[in-house]
Amino acid sequence: MLLTISTTHQPATDLGYLLFKHPDKCQEFNLSFGTARVFYPEASDTKCTAALVLDINPVDLARGKAGAKRQTLEAYVSDRPYAASSFLSVAISQVFRTAMTGRCEQKQAVADTPIPLVVKIPVLPSRGREGFLRGLFEPLGYDVSVRRLALDETFPDWGNSSYFDVELSHTIKLCDLLSHLHVMIPVLDDDKHYYVNEDEIEKLLRHGEGWLSTHPLKEEITSRYLKRQRGLTRDALAQIAVEEVIEETSDLETQEEIIEKPISLNQQRMETVVAALKANGVQKIVDLGCGEGKLLKLLLKEPTFQEILGMDVTYKSLEFAQERVLDKLPTHQKGRLQLIQGSLNYRDARITGYDAATVIEVIEHMELDRLIAFERVLFEFAKPKIAIVTTPNVEYNVKFENLPTGKLRHPDHRFEWTRVEFKTWAQSVGDRYKYSLEFSSIGDVDPVVGSPTQMAMFIATV
Ligand code: SAH
Repeated sequence: MLLTISTTHQPATDLGYLLFKHPDKCQEFNLSFGTARVFYPEASDTKCTAALVLDINPVDLARGKAGAKRQTLEAYVSDRPYAASSFLSVAISQVFRTAMTGRCEQKQAVADTPIPLVVKIPVLPSRGREGFLRGLFEPLGYDVSVRRLALDETFPDWGNSSYFDVELSHTIKLCDLLSHLHVMIPVLDDDKHYYVNEDEIEKLLRHGEGWLSTHPLKEEITSRYLKRQRGLTRDALAQIAVEEVIEETSDLETQEEIIEKPISLNQQRMETVVAALKANGVQKIVDLGCGEGKLLKLLLKEPTFQEILGMDVTYKSLEFAQERVLDKLPTHQKGRLQLIQGSLNYRDARITGYDAATVIEVIEHMELDRLIAFERVLFEFAKPKIAIVTTPNVEYNVKFENLPTGKLRHPDHRFEWTRVEFKTWAQSVGDRYKYSLEFSSIGDVDPVVGSPTQMAMFIATV
């Protein structure tokens, strides 16, 4: 299995820095399924090519050493040693792990710059479909050149195989190119060699960040990447949809902020929540759906809050939180805050054992029929002593001059509740899971329509 990456960016040998592999050396890496070697067939100032060669032994595979279960003779004669497959994808992520992060202390400016890159993959399977292969890469800006390989060149009558000799050219950051390959190779091969579970969603979201949510074939890519497991695919697509909204985040956030601005609602909301937490003497807090970390930042200012965990389903938001909050903390404070990616619709051991959970302006982003799962995750399994939930009061929307009648405050809101609807919901959850309730209004209170934000504090009674 062979893959080469070339550049004519000058000096071309910068490629060695970006890949963290010296052009003068041939390096060998032992992976669980075989051996990967990286070397440079050419390395001059004007052109540099890195080759990744992966040797896997089909006999080991067939004997089950690396996962295959088939016991027939056929298993010993497979395309796995020759065709680019999920093995190559895993090799890329292991051998070029640091390069994929986009970090390169010695040449950060080059790592951050789109440079001319050409990738050659001599045997890439695509089940006979050239259109699909093009459909994956062309929307990302690649020039795709393909040559369909004959089944056997000595017997032209046998016709074509489903393998292609492929060349992809683009002026692009190396880390983006590696992410594209890492996702697309197994998508094309459609036969992952390892077990696919929820972890793969996280990987897909991480490597697909910034491009997958807007890719015209995102459904097909997601489904194939997750080995066509319907449940996983549905969850991944839901998360990608959230990301799509967040990607336009500055626009949309400001849109919601502009609407709410005259009363600086966000600030009042955060301050009310912090005051409630302090009044209840909590020390360990988990902020669920923490977004870009606005609340986390305020929580960190209070030394009584010793352990703070931020969780969000959207990787992009967590990156913002990392940059704007975590990275800015002095070293001795960093231990107080942890950020994790996770969904509130899944039971998650990482969010148990906290004194308090905050769920600020999050529930309205969930489909109503997913709320039941969220209720169980938070109140049946995570079971904080206190939970604070805030959500818009839809009755107040008439007071926002720049919000058209009947429209919700944010395009991603699935619903917005009246005061009665929110109280009814909270009360029934409280009854079910043994929590008592205190309700508050956040923002200016209008005698007719109430306040813009409504808050419920759930206090465990057992
Ligand atoms: N609490 C933050 C962000 C509110 S925006 C604040 O007040 O500023 C809503 C956030 O909820 C987004 O960051 C979104 O990614 C997150 N979210 C939506 N559905 C979620 C789910 N099912 N699990 C975890 N987070 C979710």
